[in-house]
Amino acid sequence: MSRKKQHTDLEVVQEGFANGVAPGFPLNDKEKQKMIDKATKAYARFLEALKCDWQNDPNSADTPHRVAKAYVNDLWAGRYTQMSPITSFPSDGYDGIVIERNIPLTSMCSHHHQTIGGVVHIGYISSEEGQVIGLSKLNRIVELFGRRGAIQEQLTSAIHNAVDKITEGNKGVIVTIVGTHNCVSCRGVKHQGAAMVTTKASGKFRDNDNLARKEFFDSLKINNGGHNI
Ligand SMILES: [Zn+2]
Repeated sequence: MSRKKQHTDLEVVQEGFANGVAPGFPLNDKEKQKMIDKATKAYARFLEALKCDWQNDPNSADTPHRVAKAYVNDLWAGRYTQMSPITSFPSDGYDGIVIERNIPLTSMCSHHHQTIGGVVHIGYISSEEGQVIGLSKLNRIVELFGRRGAIQEQLTSAIHNAVDKITEGNKGVIVTIVGTHNCVSCRGVKHQGAAMVTTKASGKFRDNDNLARKEFFDSLKINNGGHNI
C-alpha cells in the first residue's frame, strides 16, 4: 500500500468569486478558448466606452484578445486550471521545522485589478507520525491561489489553510507575504515602494516567544534578496 496521500479539496472561497475557482473548474482547452473569445468581445466594448479607437490603432488592434488571454492563461489561471496533484509523504520521524522562503508571488488585487508582486515565506513543523509535502508543491500552492483576484489577507489564509491540511499532524504552520500593490503605486495615493506584510500563524508559531517562530523570522533575514522582514 502506498503511504503517499493526494489532496484535492483545498478551496475555502465560494465558487465564482474572483478569489475562488470558476464554475465548472477545471476548464478544458475548448472551454478556455470559448471564454477567451467571449472576454475579447467584452473588452473591446470596454475600450470603446473609454473612447479608444482600438480597431484603427495598430498598437491596440489585438489588445482585447491579448487581455482576455492574459486573464485566462496567466493572471487568473488559478481559477481555471488544475495544478498537478499535491502529494504528501510520511515524515518518517522528522519532527523539525521546514521553511521555504522567497517564493515568487504574482497576483492581482480584486478591488482594482492591478497586479500584486512580492514573495511568500512558508514554514511548518512536521510531526514524527505526520505528513510532509514536496517542496515544489509549496510553490504550486502559491501559484494556485495567487493567480486569481486576491485580497492579501485572504490569500495568506488560503495558503496557510492548504499547507495546514496537507501536512497532516503538523505542530504549526506560518505563512508571511510581502506584497507590493500596484493599486497603491499607480493610482489613488500613488506611493511607490510601500510593501504590505501579512502573517498567518497557527500551532506553535502563534506564540510570540516560541523558538520556532523566532527561527522562521531569523531565517528570512539570511540572504533575503533585499526583502526586509
Ligand atoms: Zn487594490
